Amino acid sequence: MLFRQLLDENSRTFTYLVASRRGGEAVLIDPVRDQLPLYLRLIEALDLRLVYALDTHTHHDHPSALEVLLEQTECVTVMGRETSSPWAIRRLSDGEVLDIDGLELLAVHTPGHTDDSYSLVMDDRVFTGDTLLIRGTGRTDLGGDSREQYASLFGKLLQLPGHTLVYPAHDYNGRHVSSIADERRLNPRLQAMTVEDYVALMESVRPSDPRLSDLPEAPSLHPRAPRMRELLALKAVLTAGSALGDTSNSS
Ligand code: FE
Repeated sequence: MLFRQLLDENSRTFTYLVASRRGGEAVLIDPVRDQLPLYLRLIEALDLRLVYALDTHTHHDHPSALEVLLEQTECVTVMGRETSSPWAIRRLSDGEVLDIDGLELLAVHTPGHTDDSYSLVMDDRVFTGDTLLIRGTGRTDLGGDSREQYASLFGKLLQLPGHTLVYPAHDYNGRHVSSIADERRLNPRLQAMTVEDYVALMESVRPSDPRLSDLPEAPSLHPRAPRMRELLALKAVLTAGSALGDTSNSS
């Protein structure tokens, strides 16, 4: 397999170029419009044929390259069937498989950050879009739904084997990859015991800057500060729950 993780510095977006082999068919996942020349150069250098360009969800924080890729290449643009984007030619449903030269990407509907959020499972890895970030989860207050996100996280993504590699659509702290087991253990958002805990936690960490679209907590010059605030918020939520005698556990 040929696999490249590319970074758009401005939006801290990860784009993934995946192909079965040099000279074969390829897919771009979450391409950013500003980086189109880089994608085209890379595809040419590796002698690839771009067959699909796929957005895991409608992005709030940067322009997608789907429109220009549709105009300038022969690829088929892909999003989930819930999307309102006019640039997605093929619409995926939950459980559908995209085949790229024998590489299979299983589409899993994981709403919450947006209605049209999908994760893609491929062999030993999962592309999680903004549903599951490294030590975080995508914000849910711009048309999203924390309850749906809880179901997507606990009911779907955390059901994957622990060794599954997690490749998100963003990271603001210099990390590139995680695993389901590490996120289950270390992600502050995934320590919530019930859906009510999760909803309360997400409401307690609303961002101050609405332009920072994909994290409920703004990036900080002091990287420890947001995590500490979040842990305190989680502790407050859990303490309130136990004070009310809430011992239910739906995780
Ligand atoms: Fe997003």
